Amino acid sequence: MALETSARRDGEDYILNGHKRWIGNGDAADVVVIFARDVADGRVKAFVMEKNDDDEGSFPPGYRPTVITGKIGKRAILQSDIVIENLRIPARNRLEHCDSFKDVSRVLTATRGGAAWEAVGHAMAGYEIAAHYSLVREQFGKPIGSFQLVQNKLANMLSELTAMQLMCSRMAELIESDRLTGPMASMVKMATAQKAKWICAEARDILAGNGLLLERHVARHLTDMDVVSTYEGTDSIQSLLVGRDITGISAFK
Ligand SMILES: Cc1cc2nc3c(=O)[nH]c(=O)nc-3n(C[C@H](O)[C@H](O)[C@H](O)COP(=O)(O)OP(=O)(O)OC[C@H]3O[C@@H](n4cnc5c(N)ncnc54)[C@H](O)[C@@H]3O)c2cc1C
Repeated sequence: MALETSARRDGEDYILNGHKRWIGNGDAADVVVIFARDVADGRVKAFVMEKNDDDEGSFPPGYRPTVITGKIGKRAILQSDIVIENLRIPARNRLEHCDSFKDVSRVLTATRGGAAWEAVGHAMAGYEIAAHYSLVREQFGKPIGSFQLVQNKLANMLSELTAMQLMCSRMAELIESDRLTGPMASMVKMATAQKAKWICAEARDILAGNGLLLERHVARHLTDMDVVSTYEGTDSIQSLLVGRDITGISAFK
């Protein structure tokens, strides 16, 4: 959805109105950067909201976060649903170098790259757990790793994992030489999320019944990957960004 939170200049302040969902640490952060569209020129700008300087560390009036509970993966970090109603932010708290959605996109390019590395981590864990399990779990008097179908799964998992690692290494090189574009980051995020989800699903299958137990971790990596493939933009949205770059035609509108 297009960014709908609005900002209206009022003397020495901006007044923000809108609604944000799934904001990481939105209930706990001391400082929150809020992107909002300036009604005066229609441009997206960034505003730094600071907690009140009181003993409770309360939020300013107009910022009301509610923690979202019951998430299936990435449970170590909490996200909030935030109602923003006539939130007053001093104009001096506007980030000077954020003046359009293009500037916001630079943040998204960086965070999508980070999510791609997360996918590599989950896939590595899933592969390693499954490869180890294939040697210790015996069926029909021999390790399951001696069956052709299990070896075929492991070989394909490793080849996809290696492709992910190479993609991310190349992405790191491009970042270092300041040549990573937004669509490139989208492509790497999409490809690694899809591959990691598949690798973690194969790992869970290799552990079969034991793979359903949290203590064996593969199910956790699989559900964590469901989350990773959603945030920073779903695979579908990443594909539209890549598709627009390939064709020059936006499928968003
Ligand atoms: C755990 C978690 C943490 C997050 N952390 C943050 C955070 O810290 N800060 C932040 O700003 N956001 C955060 N997000 C938000 C996240 O970026 C969005 O949830 C994500 O981009 C998907 O948006 P949505 O949930 O509104 O899905 P929707 O936009 O409602 O999409 C629903 C479905 O429709 C499809 N779809 C939507 N539009 C199109 C289209 N034009 N064409 C084709 N298909 C389409 C999607 O691919 C998806 O399958 C977080 C989300 C999660 C789950």
